[in-house]
Amino acid sequence: MIETISLGIESTAHTVGIGIINDKGKVLANEKSVYKPGLGKGIHPREAGEHHSKNIVNLIKRSLKISKLSIKDIDIIAFSKGPGLPNCLQIGATMARYLAFKYKKALIPVNHCIAHIEIGKLKTKCKDPVVLYCSGGNTQIIAFTEGKYRIFGETEDIPIGNALDVLARYFGLEMPGGPKIDNLAKKGKYIELPYIVKGMDLSFSGILTECKKLYNKGIKKEDIAFSFVENCFAMLTEVTERALAHTKKNEVLLVGGVAASQKLKDMIKNMCKERGAKCFSVPKEFSGDNGVMIAWNGILSSKQKTKDYSFDKDWRTDEVDVNWI
Ligand code: AMP
Ligand code: MG
Repeated sequence: MIETISLGIESTAHTVGIGIINDKGKVLANEKSVYKPGLGKGIHPREAGEHHSKNIVNLIKRSLKISKLSIKDIDIIAFSKGPGLPNCLQIGATMARYLAFKYKKALIPVNHCIAHIEIGKLKTKCKDPVVLYCSGGNTQIIAFTEGKYRIFGETEDIPIGNALDVLARYFGLEMPGGPKIDNLAKKGKYIELPYIVKGMDLSFSGILTECKKLYNKGIKKEDIAFSFVENCFAMLTEVTERALAHTKKNEVLLVGGVAASQKLKDMIKNMCKERGAKCFSVPKEFSGDNGVMIAWNGILSSKQKTKDYSFDKDWRTDEVDVNWI
């Protein structure tokens, strides 16, 4: 059988990434460049877009070189259609359209959140999980039912990764904040903080405000970090457990950049053990934003018919018709 090869372009936020993968799931290239806002700053959308436009051509050239392929060998050009920052999405969508129309390739728009799930399923070989998707831009508890990835719970305000980054910034630490808060937390003890679960939804911004207030009062950053991750990760674990009970599924998959946190992995693993469910987490190489996940979703959804090749900054997980499961 003839091999299908897909080149994926990721550019939703801080990362511009190019991935190349074949239809057997063999990764042939995974190149990326991450925009760093500098000490004390968050992502500036225009600067991030400029970063992506400066780096994208070299990343494509490097990916083709590493995979020992030429553009002629590529069958599918897949791109992150959304959700994300418009300045960033535009760079990837424009490059994808250019490559596909110039070299006559199939052009496949991909939902960024679902791409995180599908690369997790490919890499861990889990089948039908409840997904805990925690990243810089999204926090959702998702499961596949009746043709769609349905959102069972989500953040009502800021995503958990963003909350970790903002707290780290408040402590004078650089992005990404997640690993730094994780490290501080190892030396801290518990102090009381709010715990906010509303039905199946979560809220992190009030806890963050309380942390800032406590820091201003002179409470040690190690103790704040410990209590913050303790409460927030327990909230995520609680909602994931309830989704598991409701859907009667027996697998949990952890995806997104915050899936790299050992503490979150341990809490989810313990909950799964108590319920007799299997726990999977996406390998670190594919937990943060990357082009491979877009390329792989491009292969999966290559039969999907669309002529809408623009980006959509608000494209939700549960709006996508999933015809490959
Ligand atoms: P993504 O948007 O999926 O690329 O994920 C980026 C987010 O993951 C950022 O908010 C990071 O702070 C967070 N992150 C990365 N590594 C870790 C880690 N080891 N522990 C917790 N959060 C992390
Ligand atoms: Mg992401």
